[in-house]
Amino acid sequence: MDIVCLGELLVDMFPAEQGRRLADVSAFLPKPGGAPANAAVAAARLGAQSAFIGKVGDEAFGHHLAAVLQANGVDTRGVRFDHDARTTLAFIAKPDPNTQEFVFYRNPGADTRLRTDELDRELLQSTRVLHIGSVSLGAEPIRSAVWEAVTTAHQAGALISFDVNYRPTLWESPQRALEEVTAMIPQADLLKVNEVELELLTGSQDPAASRRLLEMGPALVVVTLGPHGSYFALAGGGEAVPAFQVKAVDATGCGDAFIAGLLCRLITADDWRTNLTPAFLRETLRYANAVGALTAQTMGVIPALPTSAQVEVFLRLAPPAHRVPGTANA
Ligand code: ADP
Repeated sequence: MDIVCLGELLVDMFPAEQGRRLADVSAFLPKPGGAPANAAVAAARLGAQSAFIGKVGDEAFGHHLAAVLQANGVDTRGVRFDHDARTTLAFIAKPDPNTQEFVFYRNPGADTRLRTDELDRELLQSTRVLHIGSVSLGAEPIRSAVWEAVTTAHQAGALISFDVNYRPTLWESPQRALEEVTAMIPQADLLKVNEVELELLTGSQDPAASRRLLEMGPALVVVTLGPHGSYFALAGGGEAVPAFQVKAVDATGCGDAFIAGLLCRLITADDWRTNLTPAFLRETLRYANAVGALTAQTMGVIPALPTSAQVEVFLRLAPPAHRVPGTANA
């Protein structure tokens, strides 16, 4: 297996209209979601062998979600069905283009109830990458299951990828989130943050501040900057890689698409560590930026995720890249 994604698989309830607060939305459209699940589909579409580990309710929503993953080429042998708790629902509103409101129906949601004894160990011992996010670190028993999975995959030689993916409404306080995230960072080989998460962790939104996170353990830290592209930090320096100029329709899932693109490229070498050079990462982030930009051009997440052929064509015909404002390359 190339990439195993572990965490939440849920139903995103998208607002029927934008420009309204959650309470004023007139209708919601159910779509498959959950960041690690999106990343698994994104990786499969890019041609990687991917699998998902997580839990959904043993009801119509849960079985539908598992079927969607399967239909999209994701291995679902690690999916478990909960007989008691329901599939998690996330209601979303977009009051303005830069803001998203979330309310999660997850008290408890089936995704939080994955237990250590339910993990597919064979999958974890045979994968080249284990990708996780912080949504699974805020509740038990999934939190313990994630820690066990990380230990198992790491011992078997997998690259551990951690997307902070901070969702404030899922935590009792930012401090709690910070504690759990900071405890996990040293286990990660690759850490991905956006500007908000970077500020939470370092007190600064300057992408260069991500270099401080290297001191916590990861060999590579990547900051996503939305329409401004991305930034990578590795021992010896950091560099910004500009975004592609596209007409963005919906940025949901861009970060998941981006990380899938990044991981697919990183594991092209037998030992991914040999790919940790500025020249390779410049090209890799350009590729991941393209995957993110293509995803932003279409509504929804799964329908928007590009194939590797689409990314190749896009890169060949690429419109000029945005410069990254206020980011000095070094
Ligand atoms: P997240 O906050 O979930 O990590 P972002 O919204 O920063 O994700 O998007 C991830 C990547 O997708 C960005 O780094 C960028 O490369 C690309 N991207 C996102 N939005 C746009 C956009 N409007 N135009 C071009 N590229 C985009």
